[in-house]
Parts: sequence; C-alpha cells; structure tokens
Amino acid sequence: MTIKMERIWIAGPCAAESREQLLDTAAQLVEQAQERDFSLHYFRTGAWKVRSTPDSFAGAGENALPWLQEVQKTYHIPVCVEVMNAHQVELCAKHDIYAVWVGARTSVNPIEVQQIADAVKHSAFTVIIKNPMIPDLKLWIGNIERFLQADIRRVMAIHRGFSDVHENIYRNAPLWHIPIELKVRIPELPILCDPSHLCGNVEWIPEVSQLAMNYGFNGLMVECHYHPEQALSDVGQQMLPADWADMISHLDLRNDTADLELVKQRSTLENIDNQISTLLYQRMKMVDEIAEIKRKNHIAVVQPQQWQQVVKRYAKHPEDPSYQAFIERFLELLHQSAIERQK
Ligand code: PEP
Ligand code: MN
Repeated sequence: MTIKMERIWIAGPCAAESREQLLDTAAQLVEQAQERDFSLHYFRTGAWKVRSTPDSFAGAGENALPWLQEVQKTYHIPVCVEVMNAHQVELCAKHDIYAVWVGARTSVNPIEVQQIADAVKHSAFTVIIKNPMIPDLKLWIGNIERFLQADIRRVMAIHRGFSDVHENIYRNAPLWHIPIELKVRIPELPILCDPSHLCGNVEWIPEVSQLAMNYGFNGLMVECHYHPEQALSDVGQQMLPADWADMISHLDLRNDTADLELVKQRSTLENIDNQISTLLYQRMKMVDEIAEIKRKNHIAVVQPQQWQQVVKRYAKHPEDPSYQAFIERFLELLHQSAIERQK
C-alpha cells in the first residue's frame, strides 16, 4: 500500500495592494486551479511588509484585513498573512484570518517569535514558520517548538533560501540540506518550499519547484499577482495565476517514500554545485576586471610563472593520483578560459 503524500499549494500576491488586486488574483487562482483539477489550499499575502528601504511600498496594512475576509468568504479559501508581532495577530483574529506565518526576518529573533507564539497560544490559527535568513537550523527548530508548545495543532515550515554574503545566482541561497535535516528531525512536520523568494525571478520557479518535489517537500508557497508587471513589491518574481496553475499541474509528484539519507546526500551535492557555479561566475567577473586593469596599464595577458605557482598550491593530492590528475586538468581549463576571455 502506498501512502499518498500530503501536498499543500499556497499562492497569492507578495503584498496586499488593493481590494481589487486581492479579489481578482484570488478569483483567477481558484478558477485556474479548478480548470486543472487541483485545489488552492491557502491564499497568501503580506498586509504588512518588511522592506529594506524606508520609501518602499509597505503593504495596505490593517485596511487589507476586511478585503482578505471577503476573499475567505467569497472563495472559501483560508487566507494566510505574515505577522511580526502580537498586535498583528490580534487584528488577524478579529478579522477571522485562518492562518499566519512568521517571515524570515522575524524568524531570526526568538524574543519576537515567542511573543507571537504567546499571542496565538491555544488558538485555531494554522502557523507557518519560514526559515531564518541565516542558515541556523537550531534557531528554526526552536521557533517551531515555540508554536508546538503553544498548543498550535497545525504547524508547517517553509524553506525560502538563505541570505548569502557572497553573490549567489539565486536571490536566497537554497541550502537544501538544512530543510531536509529538519525533515529528518521532525518527520511529521509538513515542509513547503517558497521558490519565489528563493529564485527572485519567475523563470527559474518551475525548475526549483520540481526539485523541491523530488526532495519530498509537501508543497509550495508561490507569489502570484493578477498584473505581475505592475506589482508594488517583488516585481519580477510574481507569477500570473494561469502560469502558476500550469506549473503545478505539470509537476512530477512521486508518492514513494524517498530514502531520506540519500535525499540528504543529494541535496548536499546540489548545494556544493551551487557554490561551485557561483564561485566560478564570480571568478570570471574578476578576470574581466583584471583584464581591464592590464589593458589600461599595458601589462601582458599571460604571466606563466604566476599560474604555475597556483597549480602547485592547489594540486597537492599525491595520495589520490586520479584526483590530482583531475584538479590539474581543471585548473588548466580555468587558466585557458581566463586567457581567452582576456583576449
Ligand atoms: C514574503 O513571503 O512575502 C516574504 C517577505 O518572505 P520572506 O520572509 O521569506 O522574505
Ligand atoms: Mn515577496
């Protein structure tokens, strides 16, 4: 007997902008999902947005709550909203909002998370906890435990990627082994992926969503907007409802219980590949800058002794001759490509 894995689809705009935007986006999401024979489980939006700069659009705030109540009543879809403090929890409760989530910025602060946990204690709220911006699994688990201890029956987690001090090809680096380790530690906890904040662009969302499904994630939270090009926040990463529904209906959903140990190893490899490709890209950009300095100062492109020293420094694996041969070939390729680029 195969046990069907629970899948949860959450979608909706980054920020609550207007009544029309929320109701129209919700209408399209529900209709598009229905046409493809699946359900939207929660409608998401941020009434209050945490923005990096003071002049950015910060959401419609409390005004959005009656609009969201209308979404819930009209389409019978539970709504989830990000909360950062007890007062916002209170306002959500007053407007019958079904679910709340803790964002990546709040998730780094256990004091604030505990205040939210105290505010939702013994309530019927579904609570979703995003990973903290920093890759700290203990902190993420601690946040989850605060809500379990607050007697919240429906607790879920979301992997939205991590801030990276290095330039990464993703908006937030997907350190897959961290949510997978979370799954190992708390197997009954549904873990979703948020490919929107992870990728930072719509183009990569389908691929990353499929990867999350392959790794055994329980669902997705995807940013969708009825006019993505006019979005007041996170423009470029919000999908059209039709594109979202199309993507969900094309996901390859396997029900077999994957070997978690193997999934963990694979995800660690994926993480290493991401780091390698990010570093190689950074290196090529650096090569371009050096080429410009050399050109300005009339310095020769190739300086052979310097490169031989690099090879000597990094190809030091006599205990593993085949790896030694590989790294020499790899460094040679790197060198040749840099020379070609400089020319
Ligand atoms: C969001 O989901 O709108 C959001 C702000 O996400 P995060 O907390 O993951 O940055
Ligand atoms: Mn957003």
